[in-house]
Amino acid sequence: MEEINDCIFCKIAKGEIPSEKIYDDDNFFAILDNSPKAEGHTLIISKNHYKNILDVPSSLGGDMLDVVKKIGLKLIRDKKVEGFNVCVNMGGVAGQTVHHFHAHIIPRRQGDGLKGIV
Ligand code: AMP
Ligand code: ZN
Repeated sequence: MEEINDCIFCKIAKGEIPSEKIYDDDNFFAILDNSPKAEGHTLIISKNHYKNILDVPSSLGGDMLDVVKKIGLKLIRDKKVEGFNVCVNMGGVAGQTVHHFHAHIIPRRQGDGLKGIV
């Protein structure tokens, strides 16, 4: 599996940094963000080190969407979430701070005070 030394998400993928994986399959895993914008803020992370969404093979797009749906439905079912934002930051100028592909799922509840990104 491709990996980059000193990449925090590669270390989490390999178990070098302990984490509670709330989802795990051949291509993606998910963890809770450690600086959450809302309760249940989840990161879907590729197992391979792709540096951003442009680097991810398009053939993984369907798998990625499946993971978004699974996690989104689980949040709705188990965490009283009414909706969620799916967000991918591409490049530092867009707010990407970890340069290993990941998508944010940010749970939304009435009156949470958060806004949409656009
Ligand atoms: P981005 O700004 O899109 O690159 O998002 C990176 C996200 O990773 C941020 O929301 C961080 O809070 C989160 N993050 C960084 N390190 C960890 C970690 N060790 N465990 C969980 N979340 C992390
Ligand atoms: Zn990495």
